[in-house]
Amino acid sequence: MSAHVTRRERCRLCDGRQLELVLPIAASPIADAYVPASRLGEPQERYPLDLYLCRDCGHVQNVDVVDPDVLFRDYIYVTASSLGLVEHYRQYAETVVRQFGLVRDALVVEIGSNDGSLLGFFRERGCRVVGVDPARRIAEEASARGIPTLPEFFGSTLAARIRAEHGGAALVAANNVFAHADDLADIVRGIRELLADDGVFVFEVSYLGDIVDRFLFDTVYHEHVSYHSIAPLDRFFERLGMQLFDVQRIASKGGSIRGFAQRRPEGCRPVSGVVTAMIADERSRGLGEPPIYRDYASAIDERKAAVTRIVDEARTAGRRVAGYGASTTVTTLMWHFDLTQKLDFLADDNPLKQGLYAPRCHLPVVPSEVLYTRRPDMVVILAWNYADPIIKRHQRYLAEGGTFLVPLPEPRLVKAN
Ligand SMILES: [Zn+2]
Repeated sequence: MSAHVTRRERCRLCDGRQLELVLPIAASPIADAYVPASRLGEPQERYPLDLYLCRDCGHVQNVDVVDPDVLFRDYIYVTASSLGLVEHYRQYAETVVRQFGLVRDALVVEIGSNDGSLLGFFRERGCRVVGVDPARRIAEEASARGIPTLPEFFGSTLAARIRAEHGGAALVAANNVFAHADDLADIVRGIRELLADDGVFVFEVSYLGDIVDRFLFDTVYHEHVSYHSIAPLDRFFERLGMQLFDVQRIASKGGSIRGFAQRRPEGCRPVSGVVTAMIADERSRGLGEPPIYRDYASAIDERKAAVTRIVDEARTAGRRVAGYGASTTVTTLMWHFDLTQKLDFLADDNPLKQGLYAPRCHLPVVPSEVLYTRRPDMVVILAWNYADPIIKRHQRYLAEGGTFLVPLPEPRLVKAN
């Protein structure tokens, strides 16, 4: 095994030892490691991605942890590059300020604050803000733009330092980081330490129930090590002196939750019926037991077989096949569906990705106009969650005889009428 991977022997949430492999996923390179031509000579390793289920608490997780220095230090993802996300954060700040009556000068700390997009909206509303993000360059740029950002990994030690300097936080926010961090217990200990007695911790993560229902297995990648559901989280918070008191379902990333937790026993907000209802629903679905994942794995295999047959037939007939999309989910999907050697290039509409090469397989990423110059016979829409807008935008490609293959949730071919 690679020198950059450590294997966990215990559950990330409950410390239990009964971890069972339930969803094998093909090993892949770091999903966001799209590289410029100057770095094509550098080797890019593949690391395991298999998902394990904790038989003690039901938490689903990766146990093969890639060194965070390898993963996060050169992180190129910048929030402001994603316009939809900035609007999401604006509404998020507005909702949370209103919901918890945050007063002027209230301290808001965000873990994994990236370019400070979310904290900027809290600052506009008069809050004091502190960001924490280990990506040094991004942290420096955020600080330069007036969002003080500590270029460090968050944990109990850093929490104590922030509290000593700024006082207790009315709000601690963590988005994605809560799914990305390996030592989640130390993060929650730090959050408890940092929160004022009546403070609130709010986090957003993809929801395991949606990942299973909506074929979002391509959101499994190395940065993302926890696939959260409510029952294991509820126990986890309780063990660490916190209480999960509310959960909202939100549409981000195809299906996510926004969770709210408070210190126990100091917090006095009542526990919402949604928390107990979701735990009951997860139990009745068997989300904490292996069979649902075995069924899921075979449903994914069926789709992979169908996509493989279509692509192989086209290539055998001498047709040229390309891909559409150059994101983290695309990396997981390409490696799991064994497509890396079968595509000529990847088209993508994000100018930051154009001109780069996909992780390890080094497929070139080109603007989508290239569909009209290189004219591939078939384009696999790897960013299948955006299939509808992509197809709409490229009616001309279809009119000129092209075919789209949408691989998920059900493989389908799209041609001109
Ligand atoms: Zn567990």
